[in-house]
Amino acid sequence: MSTDAAAIRDAVAALEDAARERLAALVRADSRLGQEQAAQRLMADWFGELGLDVRRVPVDIEAIRDRPGFSPPLIDYAERENVVGVHAPANPRGRSLILNGHIDVVPPGPERLWTDPPFEPVVRDGRMYGRGAGDMKAGLVAYSVAFEALRSLAVAPAAPVYLQSVVEEECTGNGALACLAADYTADAAIIPEPFAQQLMVAQVGVMWARVTVSGRPSHVLDTGAGVNAIDAAHRLCTHLHTLVERWNAPDLRHPAWQGHPHPLNFNLGRIEGGDWTSTVPPEAVVDVRVGFFPGMELHDVRRAIEQAVDEALASDPALAGARAEVEWRGFQAEGAEMDPAHPMMSLLSEIHQQVAGSPIEHLASTATTDARFFQLYGDTPATCYGPEADAIHGIDESVSLASMMQVATVLALFMAEWCGLERAA
Ligand code: ZN
Repeated sequence: MSTDAAAIRDAVAALEDAARERLAALVRADSRLGQEQAAQRLMADWFGELGLDVRRVPVDIEAIRDRPGFSPPLIDYAERENVVGVHAPANPRGRSLILNGHIDVVPPGPERLWTDPPFEPVVRDGRMYGRGAGDMKAGLVAYSVAFEALRSLAVAPAAPVYLQSVVEEECTGNGALACLAADYTADAAIIPEPFAQQLMVAQVGVMWARVTVSGRPSHVLDTGAGVNAIDAAHRLCTHLHTLVERWNAPDLRHPAWQGHPHPLNFNLGRIEGGDWTSTVPPEAVVDVRVGFFPGMELHDVRRAIEQAVDEALASDPALAGARAEVEWRGFQAEGAEMDPAHPMMSLLSEIHQQVAGSPIEHLASTATTDARFFQLYGDTPATCYGPEADAIHGIDESVSLASMMQVATVLALFMAEWCGLERAA
């Protein structure tokens, strides 16, 4: 096909207003855990308009439970499906591609802290504000616009392309795992996570644990007779934090994060406990998140956490009389590394440089992404390359619309090169 790069760039640019509207509609469709359906319907409709074969891929727990990469879910999967738009070329000859993004967003936090309501998107100074605008609805828009731009030129990729909008990236990754279990693999996968147009070359492992701490209730007139479970839970978390700081030590650091000041983070994300202001709380539940490096096995990380809890209970006088139980719930996500020399990575780098006018930077991510499923378990080389966003998981999250369009341009040009082009049916 003779469709040249300039025509593709122009075709993407022509979709800018439409892209902005799509993004606003997606942000308005609040897709927190358990309520992803409305946003998934928007994606399914859009994939249909693009001429793709729209498939629903349910998360069948029985089909994924024993697969590597499975994480124990927080809620069940009734009516919470992935949506996949399948492009089947008339004469397949190029390399196939998965473009994947997650539809789920994290809770917005206290709405009163937001300048504008989190699910009422507004544009200021070239940025769209709203929960999920950056993480990662702009990514979903970018890859869809890339495909749409090719269609507007009456061409299509000359290899199978799968546009995936998956659920539950933010706590398990089981949405992406279900797509893998349904046999969606390809010669490469790109996820436009909001990493400021850097090329992801590694990501940490992430594990969630729930620790239920029991104390001993008593009247506050004699707090010494009781064991305060909230105090104990908090104290226990300082021990777990210390464990993660040990893994962060420069001599133990994974080479991909050698220059990073603090790659592995511990987070006490949720605490719940107590039942009366004048009663020493008998029980507290804490949900914690720990990061760890690729190469550390999941069972070793779990054992290290359990050991740290046992040792703290046995040796810390501040924990005398307290008991604790650890459960694994949510992310049990291995770390992953990508080969920057892989043809997919070098092509993406080359096209980024042409479009952005500067060399691509490499990113060793301190968070997990669904890229691990393709890369580790799906025989599909994967990376993240997506727009510049600010305050993801925070207050007043925003994404650069110019960056979103630039990512769409890069992805359209990438598809043209990687898959080749044919005349659209
Ligand atoms: Zn994300």
